[in-house]
Amino acid sequence: MKIAFIGLGNMGGPMALNLKKAGHTLSAFDLSAEACKKFAAEGLPIAASAAASVADAEVVISMLPASAHVEGLYLGSDGLLGKIAPGTLVIDSSTIAAATSRKVAEAGAARGIAVIDAPVSGGTGGAIAGTLTFMVGGSEADLERARPVLEKMGANIFHAGAAGAGQTAKICNNMLLGVLMIGTSEAIALGIANGLDPKVLSEIMRRSSGGNWALEKYNPLPGVQEASPASKGYAGGFGTDLMLKDLGLAQENAAAVRASTPLGGLARNLYAAHSLAGHGGLDFSSVIKMLQKKA
Ligand code: NAD
Repeated sequence: MKIAFIGLGNMGGPMALNLKKAGHTLSAFDLSAEACKKFAAEGLPIAASAAASVADAEVVISMLPASAHVEGLYLGSDGLLGKIAPGTLVIDSSTIAAATSRKVAEAGAARGIAVIDAPVSGGTGGAIAGTLTFMVGGSEADLERARPVLEKMGANIFHAGAAGAGQTAKICNNMLLGVLMIGTSEAIALGIANGLDPKVLSEIMRRSSGGNWALEKYNPLPGVQEASPASKGYAGGFGTDLMLKDLGLAQENAAAVRASTPLGGLARNLYAAHSLAGHGGLDFSSVIKMLQKKA
């Protein structure tokens, strides 16, 4: 299949590489010359522009930071929806506002282009290993069209509901993850302050009733897990500012439906303070820095 892949960041780059490895013909693009250079060196064919990447594409996939980037790419008088052939399937895997996903899906439908939202969970490790979880919003039929492509990047594919429902599922999940990472950090910092060995404490909690994904795969303390972003200087994982964006989306959504999400609100404020302290570009697990005694 001919696939255009737009957005070669921490997630998009490895996802596109998995599609190429599976035998698809890729045409990739990123606004960052550095990202293009990095993935060209790994064998991804790079197009001169987003518009050039979608010429002849049967499927278009985007993996961009936030709503404004997705709107900017697809909508407007010069937007990509005007350049993609009718009949093409568009899969947007960025985590964005559900309302934006619905807007892009409606604009696509008006041109005979099927658009589904398919945000992911699983981190950069899951993107590299091809074991992501996809949460899809759109019609059952469009999901079935996308399934063979999604299967090459992920291990779990869920139909959350109509357009935008994938995004709603994703922000519920990330609100929980944001809270869990702070709770996990607090517990580890408390143990260290009492002289416990953080590796031993992490293992005790991982196998006890406090066990969670952060303790399994993403320990926030450097040196506990070799593969976690913490052990790599908090580089290359899921940025604090991206988590802050997701918690903001969750709070906007909660306000719209008058839901009570007190811990989600507190978590958003704590990541905002962490970002203001200059850590927005570090992986979100660096939030533990805020809870630890300075050396
Ligand atoms: P990233 O910042 O590493 O990458 C985004 C890329 O998009 C950048 O390389 C940027 O140059 C590019 N870009 C922006 N606008 C563009 C445009 N108009 N055309 C082409 N390229 C453009 O972000 P990421 O970590 O890869 O995350 C991407 C999305 O996936 C976000 O919505 C994020 O919330 C979500 N997500 C991230 C993770 C993670 O662990 N990093 C996990 C799940 C979901």
